[in-house]
Amino acid sequence: MSDEKSDEVDIMYGLKTVLAQIEAAVVRRSKDLPQIAPKLVAVSKIKPVPLIIQAYEAGQRHFGENYVNELSEKASDAQILEKCKEIQWHFIGHLQTNKINKLLNSPGLYIVETVDSEKLADNINKQWVKIRKDESKLNVMVQVNTSGEEVKNGVEPSQVTQLVEHVRKNCIDLDFKGLMTIGQYDYDTSQGPNPDFLTLAKCRQEVCEKLNLDINNVELSMGMSSDFEHAIELGATTVRVGTNIFGVRPPKNK
Ligand SMILES: *Cc1c(COP(=O)(O)O)cnc(C)c1O
Repeated sequence: MSDEKSDEVDIMYGLKTVLAQIEAAVVRRSKDLPQIAPKLVAVSKIKPVPLIIQAYEAGQRHFGENYVNELSEKASDAQILEKCKEIQWHFIGHLQTNKINKLLNSPGLYIVETVDSEKLADNINKQWVKIRKDESKLNVMVQVNTSGEEVKNGVEPSQVTQLVEHVRKNCIDLDFKGLMTIGQYDYDTSQGPNPDFLTLAKCRQEVCEKLNLDINNVELSMGMSSDFEHAIELGATTVRVGTNIFGVRPPKNK
């Protein structure tokens, strides 16, 4: 069997398995939570274009990248443009001001999940108006630093409502979709529910109460390969899964 062939099998199998696990987790989800069907974002960072096309041909539409250059290159790739016409890109990394333009010019950009300051929101809004080819709004999420770690990006939980209000009032060409967190890695769920996920759900509660929003319309993007099922049980409506679909990534050489 050639390598290409075995990749294909792996990705189909990975996707199917993850989708089945999502379905099963939805059944276990508390009935008090909004019953929003979770969206699977296949995180393709570091993985080559042919694997993205395989996943697309297996039915996957939403893909996530955390570097602007990489998303931009893949989104503009001739093969992707030809074979993946309905692809929807999620930007899930830290966004620097000087990269906004490049990101917003990427074909198929669906959402920026990592808005974490008023300044960034204002800049994205301003540039989107110049770049867009119709009257469409750009979907955004507000990223929350739920773990309080200094190295993590995201707005503090106590500042979330204010930022969401700013986006909704002042960035009229952005469409606020929900809240996103990365949270701490390797949390041991035998210790109880992941506090990052509880915090994000609590932030949504507060945002919806204070700004009078329907909770059924505010998404929670949380959970990765190691914990997406747990995240869904606690209310995730978008899960970002890389390794379980595309296989392990080589360690980062920083
Ligand atoms: C890499 C990454 C993921 C996916 O991680 P896996 O453990 O491979 O599933 C999810 N979210 C963000 C923000 C990431 O950078």
